[in-house]
Order: sequence, then C-alpha cells, then structure tokens
Amino acid sequence: MAGSSLLRSLTRHARGASAYHHHHQTWAPFSTAAAAAAGARDEARRGFPGLGPTVKGEKARVVVLGTGWAGSRLLKDLDTSGYDVVCVAPRNHMVFTPLLASTCVGTLEFRSIAEPVARIQPAVSKSPGSYFLLARCTGVNPDAHTIDCETVTDGEKDTLEPRKFKVAYDKLVFACGAEALTFGIRGVTEHAIFLREVHHAQEIRRRLLLNLMLSEVPGLSEEEKRRLLHCVVVGGGPTGVEFSGELSDFIMRDVKQRYSHVKDYIRVTLIEANEILSSFDVRLRQYATDQLIKSGVRLVRGIVKDVQPNKLILDNGEEVPYGLLVWSTGVGASPFVKSLPFPKSPCGRIGVDEWLRVPSVRDVYAIGDCSGFLESTGKDVLPALAQVAERQGKYLASLLNRTMKAGGGHANSEAEADPGPPFVYKHLGSMATVGRYKALVDLRQSKVG
Ligand SMILES: Cc1cc2nc3c(=O)[nH]c(=O)nc-3n(C[C@H](O)[C@H](O)[C@H](O)COP(=O)(O)OP(=O)(O)OC[C@H]3O[C@@H](n4cnc5c(N)ncnc54)[C@H](O)[C@@H]3O)c2cc1C
Repeated sequence: MAGSSLLRSLTRHARGASAYHHHHQTWAPFSTAAAAAAGARDEARRGFPGLGPTVKGEKARVVVLGTGWAGSRLLKDLDTSGYDVVCVAPRNHMVFTPLLASTCVGTLEFRSIAEPVARIQPAVSKSPGSYFLLARCTGVNPDAHTIDCETVTDGEKDTLEPRKFKVAYDKLVFACGAEALTFGIRGVTEHAIFLREVHHAQEIRRRLLLNLMLSEVPGLSEEEKRRLLHCVVVGGGPTGVEFSGELSDFIMRDVKQRYSHVKDYIRVTLIEANEILSSFDVRLRQYATDQLIKSGVRLVRGIVKDVQPNKLILDNGEEVPYGLLVWSTGVGASPFVKSLPFPKSPCGRIGVDEWLRVPSVRDVYAIGDCSGFLESTGKDVLPALAQVAERQGKYLASLLNRTMKAGGGHANSEAEADPGPPFVYKHLGSMATVGRYKALVDLRQSKVG
C-alpha cells in the first residue's frame, strides 16, 4: 500500500478505536429490558481498563489477533449480524505475500498487494461494537476470558505514549503468524532485510536504488562499486528464489538501460545451505537451478556464520561483501507464541485439535502459521502456507457462525453447539517463479494433514 494511503487508513482506524469510549460512556438505552441489560453490562465492565465483557442480550465478541491470510479470511466471513468483531494487530492491512517480491523492483506497486482491514470487514469501522485496534497482544488470561494489549506506535514520537489495555472476549482467535528464523546468527537482525511486510519491500527498493546511484559517484574504487551492487539473498526456498528471479529480471531489463555505466558491476548471489526449493520435485529443482544460472544468479552452497555491516562470513571462512542483504531462511514460532500458556504442537506452534480449537481452554482457537495440530490428533503439522491459513480462516468462520446460531456465541456457552465436521486440508500444489516469465508448478499432493 502506498505510504500516504496506508497512513490515511491507519489514522481512520485509530480514530475508530477511540470512538468506542465515546459510544459506551454517553449512549443510554431507553427500554426497560435494554436498561436492565445495560445495568448488567455496566456492572461487568466497572473498573475494566479496556473493552469489557459482553452480557447476554448483546452481541457476543470475537477477538481476532492478526490481519494476515488466516485472520483476514476469518474476518471477511464472520457473521457480523450476530457477532461484534474486534481485530487486534500491529498492522491495519492484509499483505498478499506471494506478490511481495515483485514490489521490491517495481514490477508491482505496494498498494496493489495490500488490502485495508476495513475493506475486508467493513464492520470494524462502522458497527458500534466492532473495531480494529492498532496494537499487539502481549498475553492472555483464558480463565478471565481477557487479553492484554499494547499500542503500536513504531517508535513514532509525539503521537501517543505506549498504552496498555485489556479486551474481554467471548471467542478468541490467534492468527498471529510466525517469525523469520535467524538461527541466532549474529548480525542478521541488525544488517539483513527480511521479506515479510510491505515496509521490508519498500526498504529493499530504497536500498537498491540508493546503491545504484551511489555507485556512480566519482572516485569510488572498483571494489567498493562491486560491493555496493552485490545483492545477496540467503535462503533458497520459494521466497529467496522468487526474489532472486525478480532481481535478475530487474538487472536485465532496467539496470542495463537506466544505469548502463554500472551494469557490469551488479550481481545477485543466492546462498543456500542445502538444495534450493527442497520441497519441490527433483526435476523441478534442476530446472530452477538451470534457469537461475542462465539469468546470471550465482548459486552458492554454504552456511552463513556471521553477518557484519558490509560483509558476511561463510562457514568455510569465505567473506562475501554485500550492498544489499535479504534474509529468507524460513519461519518459526514467535516469542509471543512461545510465551503462551498452551500446549504446543511439534515445532512449537499453538497446539490445536481437528476443529482448530485450543483444547486445554474454552473459547480459544488458533489458525494459520501460528498453529499446528497437537501430536495427539495423529496429524502432521501443516506447512506455513497461505493456502493453509486462508482455508483455516474460512473453516473457522463457518464453525463460529454455526456456533453463534446454535446459541453458543457467548463465553462458556459453546458446549451446547455441535462443532460440525473437522478441518481437512488438501494440498493443491506449489508454484515458484524463477524470473523471465518462467515458473515451476509442483502438483504432487504430498502435504496432506
Ligand atoms: C514473501 C512471501 C511469499 C509467500 N508466498 C507464498 C505463496 O506463494 N503461497 C503460499 O501458500 N504461501 C506463501 N507464503 C506464506 C504465507 O504468506 C504465510 O503462510 C501466510 O501469510 C500465513 O498467514 P497467517 O495469517 O498465519 O500469518 P501472517 O500472514 O504472517 O499474518 C500474521 C498477522 O499477525 C499479526 N501479529 C503478529 N504478532 C501479533 C500479536 N502479538 N498480536 C496481534 N497480532 C499480531 C501480524 O501483524 C499479521 O497481521 C509467502 C510468504 C512470504 C513472506
């Protein structure tokens, strides 16, 4: 999303959040029944530093943590005639991640791959009890049915001091994704750029163009020019491969024309510890390798040991100077997910049963990259993919809508409702582009959970 429109919708949501307090402190219902309900509600909410518990007679509240593939699909399909929805996330838009690499070099614009939450679920900016809250969840109290949150101001000064507040839920859905793995390698977080958010793609584009321009400065040594224009990608999974393909297209199409003074200095190196695209069929892997080499990408088999400001060190001692370093070595459970008081799946994700419920507590669910089947289900943990997350969001919305219609929408009342059929995942195949309008498609259905 372009910076200005992102800012616009961000501000709109922030205003929506504060409007809550206005509605609920000054609106008085007039009928006797409504007055009784309001009395009970006020009683329940007294002294509650945030969005207090709902009471029978008002809509139940579904709290969704995250605006990624899983949370967005869930938000879109939730029936807001019966539920209030409160989405808490540090980002007010969903990112269409498969096209993120294309925005780094201008093939696509940022706004083409980001969708504001309010467009996905208009209730969050219109319905009196539904909100998008720009905050991070920091903890959960499953007995009290509340979560702890902290506002996200991204280091912005002169806006709002960081604030802590609570939100009470009837149903709580963790859809808070995973985090880039760095394997504890020194310097990665400080010097490399990840490719997971729109601001990462913006930073990559900015750095690439800056280095291209700086490399024309008179008096720069050959060595310095080569370093500035050396783009290094660590991680040969689909994201690393697709980004390398996009970069080499950019070099062949744009750099050769627009920066022809330095066209012979720019290079792309892809570093992978094992095989590139290891989850793909072996013949497709070979095809990808051939295509990348043809496009001028240098493939290096190696393990990064240390990352310094302008160079990284491989395990064989080789030093690799860089001007741009993109890190994409897979994802794992975030510290937040690790901190949660729930049983975990193998790989440390929030453990769920076949209905995507967290079975140790009531009214809590987890979907997408942050969740995984518990070992006791006998099912494999599903891959961290949009196609898993999106279908889990869709499935859970229909489960929650059914639960609400059966009278189980409020906290501690779902026991009466039949959850319906369990979630079943069928893998539809994988695709990875390798640049020059070429792609691999693996249609084997091996990733069934
Ligand atoms: C560059 C790239 C390309 C990809 N390409 C593909 C592809 O082609 N096909 C495919 O199937 N998959 C692809 N994936 C993987 C796919 O994007 C993920 O599997 C998917 O995004 C997972 O969805 P999710 O909703 O679980 O998490 P995410 O989409 O990561 O969303 C997590 C959300 O949670 C929020 N959050 C984080 N912490 C908190 C907190 N404490 N409190 C509240 N909110 C929080 C985040 O801000 C975010 O809104 C790609 C991933 C990347 C990075």
